[in-house]
Amino acid sequence: MIDSRSHNLNRLANELWDVLIIGGGVNGAGVARDLAMRAAHIPGGLRIALVEKSYFSSGTSGRNSQLIHGGLRYLKYGDFGLVREALHERRTLLEIAPSLVHPLEFLIPCYKRFDRLFYGTGLTLYDALAGSHGIQHHRSIYAAAALRLEPALNAKDFRGAVLFHDAAVHSARLVLENLLDAEARGACIANYTELHRVPGGLECRDLLTGTAFHVRARQIIDATGAWSEAAPLRLVRGSHLIFPRIQAGPEALAHFDEKGRIVFLIPWGENNDLTLVGTTDADHHSGPDKVAISEEETTYLRSIVKRLYPDFREDPITSYASLRPLVVQTGRSATATSREHRIWKAADGVLHIAGGKYTTYRSMSEEAVDMLLPDLVPGRDIPCETATTPLNIPPIPPDVEGRVQMAVEREHARRLPDLLYTSTYWGHERRLSPDWLLPLARQMGELLGWSEQRIREEAAL
Ligand SMILES: Cc1cc2nc3c(=O)[nH]c(=O)nc-3n(C[C@H](O)[C@H](O)[C@H](O)COP(=O)(O)OP(=O)(O)OC[C@H]3O[C@@H](n4cnc5c(N)ncnc54)[C@H](O)[C@@H]3O)c2cc1C
Repeated sequence: MIDSRSHNLNRLANELWDVLIIGGGVNGAGVARDLAMRAAHIPGGLRIALVEKSYFSSGTSGRNSQLIHGGLRYLKYGDFGLVREALHERRTLLEIAPSLVHPLEFLIPCYKRFDRLFYGTGLTLYDALAGSHGIQHHRSIYAAAALRLEPALNAKDFRGAVLFHDAAVHSARLVLENLLDAEARGACIANYTELHRVPGGLECRDLLTGTAFHVRARQIIDATGAWSEAAPLRLVRGSHLIFPRIQAGPEALAHFDEKGRIVFLIPWGENNDLTLVGTTDADHHSGPDKVAISEEETTYLRSIVKRLYPDFREDPITSYASLRPLVVQTGRSATATSREHRIWKAADGVLHIAGGKYTTYRSMSEEAVDMLLPDLVPGRDIPCETATTPLNIPPIPPDVEGRVQMAVEREHARRLPDLLYTSTYWGHERRLSPDWLLPLARQMGELLGWSEQRIREEAAL
């Protein structure tokens, strides 16, 4: 097998890059794809590189609520512009990545007298902001009809439900597909490669070998999310629990707690036999590399499940947590802080992307590239094509061997977590045990030439 990663690292060390993107989350990946597409219209192209210090999409982009949504709750804070933009992007992503983004129906259970009217009014505005988009508009149903859909739902004081549509995404894979598309158009991408500023320039460290080398770039883009040191960001942790399937029907549930926070119960898993429950909003005070669900968050999410499904007795299988890097707004709670993004060029010339939502990554990337191009190719106006060019996503092999091979040979998997959390979500879908991990590590090891010791180290995670 050709070692594409070594080849890319070699290129990184030896070429002069027009643009070097730091961070292989959705924003870095989106910018890489957009730039690579526009570069095709520039004589001589553009030399674009992207480095990610861990596995691709290992940050917030692979550990979020997996929704492409307008953000119903932002209506409450008057963020109409954000909701409209996100709904517009929802339509675009359904069109350009239909195998990874698909419509999902949500049910809002109503337990107070005017809830149906209240949510119905909000959703009328939501539908209006979405415009005509092929996704069905909301509807309101009586308690008996809702209980036919969800017979185990708490029937005490139940007054019916409102149903509406948004979309679900395999968020880690969509990042990967953007990166691979950029690579197919000439970009150089490298995982497990950390970028640092050092006196006199920039240094990359290959975290798999420990080797360090200098890189040279005309323009740097900071897409490091919660790791960015450029702006006063407020780090807000959001956590999820993964349960055996809770709801009976194919729909997700959207529950508003007494403070107006929304918690989703989303049908999940490759076998569709799980429920993803989240999320929380907790100010995070330790560093971005140390993120895990707290006991308080676990208790809170379990209490919501119990409130909605009082007879559900199962324990969560796994959990994951990640950070929202929000633009600081003094005096606002973690929940109320806006998800608006900010893109700006700092005095040292670095372009930063901060805040925002996964749903709006494509339009944010477009804005960032629009800002960058006049410096890279003065006098040229090259329109963005990412909204109208579908991602070329191959079918997923049906068997485990095929999946491992695809991860290693197509998707740059070089450690077991690449397979478990980006190429697939197998790692989130079950309790990890050495018996289950070892054969996977062995198969990866055969493709990558690992020693028996390395295979065992990978399986120990
Ligand atoms: C719990 C939660 C749920 C959410 N749910 C949704 C949702 O359902 N829908 C939605 O639209 N939005 C959602 N969001 C928001 C959305 O997921 C984020 O806005 C988005 O993923 C941020 O992407 P990013 O690329 O900026 O950051 P990240 O995905 O965190 O990527 C940054 C990357 O930079 C890398 N990096 C950092 N430093 C370096 C370095 N020195 N060298 C190399 N690489 C480096 C990191 O390893 C990381 O992979 C959610 C957020 C949270 C926290």
